[in-house]
Amino acid sequence: MIIKASYSNTPVWHDVHVHSILPEELRPLEEIAHNLWWVWSEEAKEIFELLDYEEYEKCGKNPVALLQNLRTEKTEEIMKNADLMARIGRLHQSYKNYIGTPFDADRPSIAYFSMEYGLSHALKIYSGGLGVLAGDYLKEASDSRVDMTAVGFLYRHGYFTQTLSVDGQQIANYEAQNFGSLPITQVLDEHNKPVVLEVPFHDRTIYSNIWKVSVGRIQLYLMDTDLEHNSEYDRSITHQLYGGDWENRMKQEYLLGVGGILLLKRLGIRKDVYHMNEGHAALISAKRLRDYVQEEKLSFNEALEVVRASTLYTVHTPVPAGHDYFEESLIRKYMEPLVNKIGIPWYQFMDMGRDNPGTNEKFSMSVFALNTAQESNGVSKLHGLVSQEMFQPVWKGYFPQELHVGYVTNGVHLPTWATSSVKRIYENNLGEDFYQDQSNPEIWKKVYDISDEEIWGLRMHLKEKLVDYIKSEFVDGWLKNQAAPTRIISMLDEIRPGSLIIGFSRRFATYKRAHLLFSDLDRLAKILNNPERPVTFIFAGKAHPADGGGQSLIKHIVEISRRPEFLGKIIFLENYDMRLAKRLVSGVDIWLNTPTRLQEASGTSGEKAIMNGVLNLSVLDGWWYEGYVEGAGWALTAKRTYENQAFQDELDASTLYTMLESEIIPLYYAHNSNGYSPQWVKFVKKSIAEIAPHYTTKRMMDDYFDRFYMKLAQRSKKLAENNYAKAKEIVRWKEDTASKWDKIEVIKLEFEPVQEVDINNGKNKIYGEVVIDKKDIAAELGLECVVVDYDSTANKVEFVEKYEFNLLKTEGSRLFFQTREALNDPGTHQYALRIYPKNPDLPHRMDFAYVKWIS
Ligand SMILES: *Cc1c(COP(=O)(O)O)cnc(C)c1O
Repeated sequence: MIIKASYSNTPVWHDVHVHSILPEELRPLEEIAHNLWWVWSEEAKEIFELLDYEEYEKCGKNPVALLQNLRTEKTEEIMKNADLMARIGRLHQSYKNYIGTPFDADRPSIAYFSMEYGLSHALKIYSGGLGVLAGDYLKEASDSRVDMTAVGFLYRHGYFTQTLSVDGQQIANYEAQNFGSLPITQVLDEHNKPVVLEVPFHDRTIYSNIWKVSVGRIQLYLMDTDLEHNSEYDRSITHQLYGGDWENRMKQEYLLGVGGILLLKRLGIRKDVYHMNEGHAALISAKRLRDYVQEEKLSFNEALEVVRASTLYTVHTPVPAGHDYFEESLIRKYMEPLVNKIGIPWYQFMDMGRDNPGTNEKFSMSVFALNTAQESNGVSKLHGLVSQEMFQPVWKGYFPQELHVGYVTNGVHLPTWATSSVKRIYENNLGEDFYQDQSNPEIWKKVYDISDEEIWGLRMHLKEKLVDYIKSEFVDGWLKNQAAPTRIISMLDEIRPGSLIIGFSRRFATYKRAHLLFSDLDRLAKILNNPERPVTFIFAGKAHPADGGGQSLIKHIVEISRRPEFLGKIIFLENYDMRLAKRLVSGVDIWLNTPTRLQEASGTSGEKAIMNGVLNLSVLDGWWYEGYVEGAGWALTAKRTYENQAFQDELDASTLYTMLESEIIPLYYAHNSNGYSPQWVKFVKKSIAEIAPHYTTKRMMDDYFDRFYMKLAQRSKKLAENNYAKAKEIVRWKEDTASKWDKIEVIKLEFEPVQEVDINNGKNKIYGEVVIDKKDIAAELGLECVVVDYDSTANKVEFVEKYEFNLLKTEGSRLFFQTREALNDPGTHQYALRIYPKNPDLPHRMDFAYVKWIS
């Protein structure tokens, strides 16, 4: 027997989480850490920092993790600190007061569905703008005391974190989140066992955990399929946000819609209005249709009437290519059993997701959403118009301008996005009621009374904080990636708070045109390297891992930033997330945005910048199209000069350089004897006072109630009363009209559009007499003359105006119409007459878009 010097096999290490058990006196902190209210409470964040600054930094400013890792010596130290303990007591009291205030009973309740929520950097269930908007909206619902419940996913890996290779290639890392140290709690049943949601898929049941995220007064419920009840294959359904193949996306959208409604039912939650945040959530309607048919014994048409009346669909994507389309075979696999339960043939369901029913087009989630939602909206004024164009094919008898598709411009949650020092200035100068009344422009006028020195001082303070942040957070990475330490040192030397700093940070999609700035590198180098007036550009942003174009853009920028003449002048910061976003939107001087026009639905980062006294320089697109005020920022022209995008880019780049050279840089450096630029401060004040009040989520929330939620809640209530009497009556009326529509006959048509000139106003008049036999249709009919400009070569029809005929009399089934109206729009136009059904119980014409053209 040989005795070896040493002998051992390899150990298998198991995780053991040793959480500190907090003493009774510190338990309130645990409660606060588990409610994302702390994200917008400066006092809470300050106290977490005071508990153990190093540990707080180490765990990425995650209060739950901080409390779990507090060492006993620390807790003892904290408990001996009477001041701190008193502060904790007061914080807990104000938290309880906030949480204890009841919901506003005068407003309807809302169920909100979204694929992503950006609430805090500590909870990685968002990728970008859409998610941050949804997160801000929940916070506002809490502040505005709106009775809202939200549904989404808890992703094991979330969206990726970004690092860059030495040559500027984006590396996407998917790190698993440790659910145990997130600000979430698992929903338990009456026996304290985790609730496991059972969602019937076509051939099996998918199980899901339910997690609760408290966002102030609001609850957000998240589904997660990563549990042992599921096969290995199904556990990964909720691993990644926007990862995986089309089939996984199908499963996610099925789970969000069908599972989302089941989840609310399981928890006994019913709401007045169901809001789909983007088409990903469209299948909530399929599930609700099934439930009304199966449980309330409604016919399919009746169920659709009820579902539509309580549903709002918000679209965020301006180009059709950005929407989800599913192959028929894929959607059939997942949806057919449910559609059978709804009781309609498969082709009828498919057609609800098609622009052109009866064809073999793919299934569009947005079209299905439109067909099952009474109301829908885009996210800025301009995007509302773009959406009307995009969705017109769904309502063939009508023109884009006539559609019911409206808009609510996105806003940002002010208490989240304004930094603590900015908030302090607002609190001190704008008065007590400031937050409650933050969308009131009058209140903001007090910004003009703040001294120039205070505004400039604030701006400098925020810039210093950004520069410090860059130095403390990024230098290690640069040393790893960019070799020569001497270069890093000279680079750091160049990054100075006194320079004009311009930020450009967003998703790297090609339409955002991050390359625009680099069209003329010599000219750019001259602008940046003027020793009297130095300028620094900071870039950040992720490209979707499947977007090669976006990734090569990042690489291109990184390469340029490595050139000697741009060292420390063009900086790319890795891993744009909410934390970095907040530093950037407050710490730069100018927020630059250069999207291809009509492709930025709204954008919100520029609104965050406004809240912090940062000026916008942006293409007139998205929110800036309506937000821009002269003397309060800069607008790159709205006009499109060239059809050719490359020419347009060149022109826009040249305009951008000229504006920087001749206007913006001189303005920033027009320092007076006190060392600041009074003209710049004037811009900043005007930007805050005139623009900020219109772009808060408070204003946005109020708009959603005024434009959509109120009328949906009122009408759907009316439809449901007395066992759905009104819904059934409307369906009988629709079925009668639809089945007899083609019988309508024109008996007499005498119409002469330009027959006489009105001597009073010199306008042309139209005159017409039409007799229609509606046969046995019960519905009343309307008749109108529609005037258009028809371009036969391009086959394009532009709506000009329309004139309603008067119904003179009715004889049996015959309707006698007449019109005598002045034409408003001079020029040569085309016209046609349009018959449509009339019913005051319908919310709008698109609700029952039957049209018969005659001429
Ligand atoms: C606000 C925000 C966005 C949205 O910005 P856009 O204006 O749409 O580009 C994206 N990502 C993060 C991390 C944000 O905080």
